Amino acid sequence: MDLKSLTISQIQELLFSKQISAVDIVKFYLQRIKKIDPQIKAFITITEKEALKQAEIIDSKIKKGESVGKLAGAVMAVKDIFLTKDIQTTASSQVLKDYLPQYSSTIYQKLIDEDAIIIGKTNTDPFAFGGSTENSGFFTTKNPWNLSKVPGGSSGGSAAAVAADLCQFALGTDTGGSIRLPASLCNISGLKPTYGLNSRYGITAMASSFDCPGVFAKNVADLALLTKITAGVDPKDATTIDNPVPDYSEILNNVDLKGLKIGLPKEYFIDPINTEVKEKVMAAAKLFQSKGAILVDISLPNTNLGIAVYYILVPSEISANMARYDGIRFGRNTDNNPDITSYYMNTRGQYMEAEVKRRILIGTYALSSGYYDAYYTKASKVRTLIKNEFTNALKEVDVILAPVSPTVAWDIGAKANDPLQMYLVDAFTVCINVAGVPSVALPCGFNQENLPIGFQLIGNFFEESKILSIANQYQQFTDYHLQTPKI
Ligand code: GLN
Repeated sequence: MDLKSLTISQIQELLFSKQISAVDIVKFYLQRIKKIDPQIKAFITITEKEALKQAEIIDSKIKKGESVGKLAGAVMAVKDIFLTKDIQTTASSQVLKDYLPQYSSTIYQKLIDEDAIIIGKTNTDPFAFGGSTENSGFFTTKNPWNLSKVPGGSSGGSAAAVAADLCQFALGTDTGGSIRLPASLCNISGLKPTYGLNSRYGITAMASSFDCPGVFAKNVADLALLTKITAGVDPKDATTIDNPVPDYSEILNNVDLKGLKIGLPKEYFIDPINTEVKEKVMAAAKLFQSKGAILVDISLPNTNLGIAVYYILVPSEISANMARYDGIRFGRNTDNNPDITSYYMNTRGQYMEAEVKRRILIGTYALSSGYYDAYYTKASKVRTLIKNEFTNALKEVDVILAPVSPTVAWDIGAKANDPLQMYLVDAFTVCINVAGVPSVALPCGFNQENLPIGFQLIGNFFEESKILSIANQYQQFTDYHLQTPKI
């Protein structure tokens, strides 16, 4: 049976009506991965044995009439920075090649506990540092819509796997855009939740006060289903919030579009935005208007400081978080070093990728005495201004609508040797992380070369229900999210 493009509930209908088994589902995806992934290179590890074993357990529960989890039969790919017990977790860096974790990350475990099936671990920029997956210490993932283009990053492997139908949903992380950007370049839906909604426990840390794990799926309804499971307080992550988790699926149509005030921040519709992207994103806004929403021009004046603030604060946190990869506690080590200093220098020098070293250098510099106040303290103050800008704007409007990426997917190699150019692709995503508010990215059209374009809906803290509801209604009026690449 051709299971291509099915959403989680569609596949579960087939499973529960016994038209297919969980093992059939897994075999379908394994076959597709074997056929298609050599071109796309979304996966670093394919977990064939684990997937078949989990599927057999689900099938036997169904056969015996026992109850199964909410995600029975749903096949997931996991960004390789989520620790998965006894399954290699590399963070796409040579530093962690062959590393086998002794425990699993909280939100991965929550999904497994609901009978989701892991099909593999996906490629990313090393430790999630990047915007295209080209920084990976292993290989570059290709965009399923055009193999000469990047899928976006850092969670490019996860996004490409969902877009190419090599799984049904995937886990990613968004520290400065890494769920929304690849979702947008690959024509799928992705949610960057409020900071603290999903536990960070068991995920290799990038910038601890920014990191937001979340999900990619084929549509917003699946994002709602999955987020209900991943969200919630975790005693192992003190930054998770102890709020009751709403049933996002139940309230998907709750927001009334009539009279809904949608803010269009003028700073997100100027340079560096490409004209075709602007047109499609504005068309999405107009569609809401035609359904009764009110478009309101707003201003987020410090948007142009976002990249500078982000690329000071994030590397600062990175430089502290990366200290643990010393070849003693974690990671590979080099032999025959005459003393401890050469041991560190050779081990970190040899196995850390160029972008990893660059971030540590920038962060260490920004935190060094003499520069701390000039860079770190100042950037922290501007962080507060940016956060206040969002909360004030969201007093006047219900939600903010903006582009995700200034351009469509670019050629592999085009920005790889120019870090500053690469950092600029984050112009429309980083401020949302600086503030900590939630944002959902979803497809809204294609350019003339048939490359996907996406937009984002940004809400106030913990307003996932609201943005998911608005996004879900958009997908009921449009079919962009149903288009799949010809691969
Ligand atoms: N592109 C951004 C960076 O390189 C975002 C990364 C992320 O969200 N993981 O920092």
